Amino acid sequence: MALVQEVLEIAKKRNANEPEFLQAVTEVLESIEPAVQRNKKYRDGRILERLVEPERVIQFRVPWIDDKGQIQVNRGFRVQMNSALGPYKGGLRFHPTVCASIVKFLAFEQVFKNSLTTLPMGGGKGGADFDPKGKSDTEVMHFCQSFMSELFRHVGPNTDVPAGDIGVGGREIGYLFGQYKRLANEFTGVLTGKALNWGGSLIRPEATGYGAVYFAQEMLKTRNDTIEGKTCTVSGSGNAAQFTVEKLIECGAKPVTMSDSGGFIHDKNGITAEELAWVKSIKNVRRGRIKEYAEKFRGATYVAGQRPWAVKCDCAFPCATQNEITGEDAKKLIDNGCYLVSEAANMPTVPAGVDLFLEKKILFGPGKAANAGGVATSGLEMSQNSMRLPWPREEVDSRLRHIMTTIHKHAWETAAEYGHPGEIGRKASFANCVCCSLRSLRGINRVGKIARLRISCGKRAQHNWILALRVANDAARQFNCCATVPQG
Ligand code: NDP
Repeated sequence: MALVQEVLEIAKKRNANEPEFLQAVTEVLESIEPAVQRNKKYRDGRILERLVEPERVIQFRVPWIDDKGQIQVNRGFRVQMNSALGPYKGGLRFHPTVCASIVKFLAFEQVFKNSLTTLPMGGGKGGADFDPKGKSDTEVMHFCQSFMSELFRHVGPNTDVPAGDIGVGGREIGYLFGQYKRLANEFTGVLTGKALNWGGSLIRPEATGYGAVYFAQEMLKTRNDTIEGKTCTVSGSGNAAQFTVEKLIECGAKPVTMSDSGGFIHDKNGITAEELAWVKSIKNVRRGRIKEYAEKFRGATYVAGQRPWAVKCDCAFPCATQNEITGEDAKKLIDNGCYLVSEAANMPTVPAGVDLFLEKKILFGPGKAANAGGVATSGLEMSQNSMRLPWPREEVDSRLRHIMTTIHKHAWETAAEYGHPGEIGRKASFANCVCCSLRSLRGINRVGKIARLRISCGKRAQHNWILALRVANDAARQFNCCATVPQG
């Protein structure tokens, strides 16, 4: 049996009740099969087996007291997936659906995404099945403090540096940071996404959405096209969605939808900067629902219980959650003329949808690449914290843009290297050749600081993620003598 299939069988047996994790693992392993076949060392070093097994999974009880004085009990997680490149890094998600499968899939994806940024970050993810919706600030604070009372012993600026994700924004990060500071008795960069007075970075809140638009611009450039004037559908109305819409407006595009778990609004005239400011206040301050947009602004409609993918558009930006674009949604998008999908959310498209995008050769930026701007800027926040020196907005934004451009460039070049025809050039879909290489590390490699391990790939006929995983020298050495050094 081929190595990839062997490893998938093992993963399926070990994680039988974790469909999202298995979905993510299958997608990556099938994609990297050609590279695995070319390089015997991946088999000898049991690299794939190591990739799919978290270094550590922490699960804990989170008891807290609600406003009625009653005790509530939630379940918390931190999955420390891989630290070959640096401290574990990845967000915390507070949502009722959070379970081992979700945090493991997110942590697995995070490892590849972080490696793409070329910053020294390992991959992790965590969260709790706590729903901040409908809770008072005091309840959220009580929950966050209890959550951190356990988590603090597992994290640290050189160990594991969490950030936000669904349900965890500036408010939650503030409460978590306060509790960490109290317990550890140190003011240190243990979390990213912090407010500016606690060592946060300018542009971090904007980074995921801005990055997804920068990535889309890079994809469009390959067809001598620009985002200006394009009609764009966006899902979600949280952090990723708000700043995707903001950057789209700034670039002269026309975002026409936003959504939440209740449904979506469609504003065919395009959401303006003033309307977006209103959405931000309703979502971030008043914590209301997106349907209020259609009550407030004439001409906009609200569609309950649906996602925005049937709305005609040129470009789509899924910014809500995993598996939010089904195979049917993907078909609707394509039938309606959509030719670019840039995933700001993690794994928002089901495999059948991805296959269709690739078959139809639309421009497709998978989350691991397109939404890497968030964690990249978290990496920049870590650097600023280490230096105790904040960078101006322009500097962070220009670094973010450079990172997104570089990710795209490496993906493009690696795709060509992996034989996706010269067609991978201008005519073919970027999606045919997404991903990343370690080329940028070659220089570092030369000075012997970091060894390069490239796991490239591309099976699934079109789903040719060309993934590269860079590893620190030590890890590379471990790969070569894994019998004696079993970790890594
Ligand atoms: P937020 O909590 O700020 O916003 C999430 C948005 O998605 C809300 O509008 C929410 O609606 C909606 N949503 C969540 N779950 C569902 C669901 N099951 N069905 C429909 N709508 C849903 O989270 P973020 O914007 O931070 O995260 C959005 C996506 O971006 C996630 O996939 C996340 O992993 C990814 N991401 C985020 C990064 C970041 O820096 N924040 C970095 C990289 C990726 P409602 O309020 O009704 O729940």
